Amino acid sequence: MKRVAVLGAGISGLSAANFLIREDIELTVLEKANQVGGLMNTISKEGYQLEMGPNSVMLNNPEFLDLLKDLNLIDSIIYPENEAAKNRFILMGKKPEALPSGPGNLFGNKIIGWSGIATLVKEPFRKAITNKEDESLASFCKRRFSVSLFDNVIDPFVTGIYAGDPEKMSAKYSMKALWEAEKNHGSIIKGLIKSMRTKKADPRQQELPKQKMISFKGGLKTIPELVHSKLGNRLQLNATVNSIQKLPNSYQISYSQNGQSHQLEVDYIISSLPAYAEANLWNNSYGNFSEELKKVHYAPTVSIHLGYHKSHVKNQTPGFGILTRVLEKKSYLGILFINRFFPHNAPAEKDLFAVIIGGSRSPELTQLPQEELISKIKEELAEAMDISGEPELVNYIKWEKGIPQYNLGHEELIKEELFFRKENPTYQVIGNYIHGVSVADSVKKGVLAAKSIVG
Ligand SMILES: Cc1cc2nc3c(=O)[nH]c(=O)nc-3n(C[C@H](O)[C@H](O)[C@H](O)COP(=O)(O)OP(=O)(O)OC[C@H]3O[C@@H](n4cnc5c(N)ncnc54)[C@H](O)[C@@H]3O)c2cc1C
Repeated sequence: MKRVAVLGAGISGLSAANFLIREDIELTVLEKANQVGGLMNTISKEGYQLEMGPNSVMLNNPEFLDLLKDLNLIDSIIYPENEAAKNRFILMGKKPEALPSGPGNLFGNKIIGWSGIATLVKEPFRKAITNKEDESLASFCKRRFSVSLFDNVIDPFVTGIYAGDPEKMSAKYSMKALWEAEKNHGSIIKGLIKSMRTKKADPRQQELPKQKMISFKGGLKTIPELVHSKLGNRLQLNATVNSIQKLPNSYQISYSQNGQSHQLEVDYIISSLPAYAEANLWNNSYGNFSEELKKVHYAPTVSIHLGYHKSHVKNQTPGFGILTRVLEKKSYLGILFINRFFPHNAPAEKDLFAVIIGGSRSPELTQLPQEELISKIKEELAEAMDISGEPELVNYIKWEKGIPQYNLGHEELIKEELFFRKENPTYQVIGNYIHGVSVADSVKKGVLAAKSIVG
């Protein structure tokens, strides 16, 4: 019987583990925390439901669909309110301005402007540089589009998704699809149109819903909790992996649990540990790999949830949220209008906002005392959304090591991981700091790693 260990029970590890629950596999999942889900966690507070980590999760690959089918969750999926999900805003001065929701309403849009339209029209005809090794995301986007389109739209979006600094982020690894579009088709727009056509011709892609964003009545933690209940005693909580020894045909894992040391010998390992934890395992035997893992920068992030009675919020425009440009000098990177796209997360007469702060743009704000930051954010949110009065719900959560950044130099990590994988074909690394950071990518990596073991 194959002996398999999955390290870490966040969504990547759990996606792998779920696939490995079968009779001919002796499976052990080791998780440091006293609960599953890692970054993916939902809490209930004062009648509201709050996502602590990811909020907007995209069902955009077949492996994710298979996981949800396997967990009998397809009929429980909640899709967002259509109009709200489409309306996205950028803060321009004191007030939010709507971005065009499609090519049809590009004309007359204040954020894009005529020069933005001209930039988009010219992009397919711009000279492509396809032999470049790597470049910063900022330089790539400014080269393909324009400085103003970058400042007004792309930078706010990148910051909203990755909480990163586009001047430091690698274009090749942070926005792989766009990078490859230029490389293979000479233009981002042409490349994206081609890849849309390819997806349309793929029957598995066609099974995916048109609206990709998903949630559940009990929030996103529904997924980790279901896998947890299936794992039974295959899952060890409060179990911290401390070291791994490579044996001729297997691995010996040393972990501690409730003050006691344990050893576990397995034939295969799927590791979803964060880069800094993985680095500690290979200090001596794979020094270069370990060094590259230590270099991975995690952008610190704070999420503050604020709930108000709707009568206190004058701006009732349906929408997904607001992103900010650097020049606005706001304390927040973005505001999500949670209940307007997922009403199940708040009582009917209430408005729930999630305000995202910090990232690589303003990491120092995550170090402010909680009360000071909350009071700053209340004031800025009140200005953007025309709010009077105090919130009835306040929740603060800090991720000291939030989203890992695929910065320039990421290629070295890719090379070292490849070398490690060649020497250790039965050890797979699927953490969110490599080959995709989103929840959908994490699920895909987990499922594919597990499939490769089952054969
Ligand atoms: C604030 C925030 C917002 C985000 N928003 C979105 C979003 O809206 N949409 C989206 O798609 N993605 C989003 N992401 C990214 C996404 O949530 C993560 O990349 C994804 O959840 C990672 O899952 P994972 O299982 O790889 O890692 P994790 O969830 O970090 O799981 C790793 C697990 O390993 C455990 N562990 C660590 N060390 C040890 C050890 N030594 N021994 C045993 N176990 C250990 C940890 O306790 C943890 O449970 C967001 C991330 C953050 C931080």
